[in-house]
Amino acid sequence: MSLTKILLDEKEMPTRWYNLQADMPNLPKPPLHPQTKQPLTGPDLAAIFPMELIKQEVSTERWIDIPEEVQQILKLWRPAPLYRAHRLEKALDTPARIYYKYEGVSPAGSHKANTSIPQAYYNKQAGIKRLATETGAGQWGSALSLACNFFGLECTVYMVKVSYHQKPYRRSLMNVYGAEVIASPSDQTNAGRQILAADSDSMGSLGIAISEAVEDAATREDTNYALGSVLNHVCLHQTIIGQETKAQLARVDEYPDIVIGACGGGSNFAGMAFPFVYDKIKEGKKTRIIAVEPAACPTLTKGKFAYDYGDVAKLAPIAMMYTLGHDFMPPGIHAGGLRYHGESPLVSQLYHDGLIEAKALTQNAVFEAAALFARTEAILPAPESAHAIRVAVEEALACKHSGESKSIVLCLSGHGHFDLSSYDAYLEGSLEDYEYPARMVEESLKKLPVVD
Ligand SMILES: *Cc1c(COP(=O)(O)O)cnc(C)c1O
Repeated sequence: MSLTKILLDEKEMPTRWYNLQADMPNLPKPPLHPQTKQPLTGPDLAAIFPMELIKQEVSTERWIDIPEEVQQILKLWRPAPLYRAHRLEKALDTPARIYYKYEGVSPAGSHKANTSIPQAYYNKQAGIKRLATETGAGQWGSALSLACNFFGLECTVYMVKVSYHQKPYRRSLMNVYGAEVIASPSDQTNAGRQILAADSDSMGSLGIAISEAVEDAATREDTNYALGSVLNHVCLHQTIIGQETKAQLARVDEYPDIVIGACGGGSNFAGMAFPFVYDKIKEGKKTRIIAVEPAACPTLTKGKFAYDYGDVAKLAPIAMMYTLGHDFMPPGIHAGGLRYHGESPLVSQLYHDGLIEAKALTQNAVFEAAALFARTEAILPAPESAHAIRVAVEEALACKHSGESKSIVLCLSGHGHFDLSSYDAYLEGSLEDYEYPARMVEESLKKLPVVD
């Protein structure tokens, strides 16, 4: 019963993705064209995405087969291990049982390779030669570079300038996998040149980098665009996380009382949560499912559920989601992967419908939990993932006070080996706690698109 590492056999890796759109009580409102503000059509999307991914984006089939070739690559590191955090539990002196699903075993260091592999595969099948994308902290850029390399595609990554300078080794990794990495805003696109004309010192944002990558893809016949989070097909590809976790917990006769994931655009959270949301909808399970975000970018907890643009230049579709406003300028917090102004429409709808909860945390609390985790469980968590750890710790301490013995599972979305400078800042005591002011959210929200 009391295993530390709960493993599945290679043959037990899921062969299908779970599509929550088959079962949600309310589907999100459809995405709109950024210029016409009419619902997007297949041909609108076909300029930048292959047809198979467009089909997945709108599918309401419950199960979608994972292509054999994709499974073969995912098996290089999957099924990912699930650990029981015995040493952390002991340090907290809690009766709670804490489990973590470790996605840092992927060669790119995070869950993002779960979707970069199928995305590169479907683009290759469609005859595409090159993919353009953006990256914030560099996790997605690394994962897509790796995938493009596997399938012989060229890869261009627009990397948010502040990270380009702060995380030089993420850039090196992408270069090793053969990708071209451009600091964004750049002079390579109209979107980039416009930003630089207004502010030549701009350090960039994910919204700006998305505009550059989308423009690149839309203006070249041989090039498509790939997004590492937010979209329905990305959340779909991540559901192998939750499916594996369920099977692993079942192996030790567990079912979680609480499921936790860090939430940027929502993909690792979705991947862990959706198979458990299914049980809530279909079997009336009472599981608490918690999305955790930074107080500096509090999309769910302080944003508005509204139609908004996906990027600064208004090239990407308008989506119905929780948003802080498309020109939201995130402060330079260290969990770079959690700095997007919007949120997956699927995750947003679940939050709106009360099927999941959300919590926002400031940085020092997050790093305190990260350091405790590293010292007890030995794995150095990505600062993004540490948001989930902090909430697991808080819930475990609540169990200590109430005497309840709950079962808690969290998604440890990646390792923090490229984030050591932020650990240094934490250890030196120079990390600032910052809460994005409500007034600035209000200002940004004045610029939401007007739709009927
Ligand atoms: C990108 C990233 C996140 C945030 O993105 P989601 O789409 O919300 O999952 C979280 N953790 C890690 C390690 C990441 O690389």
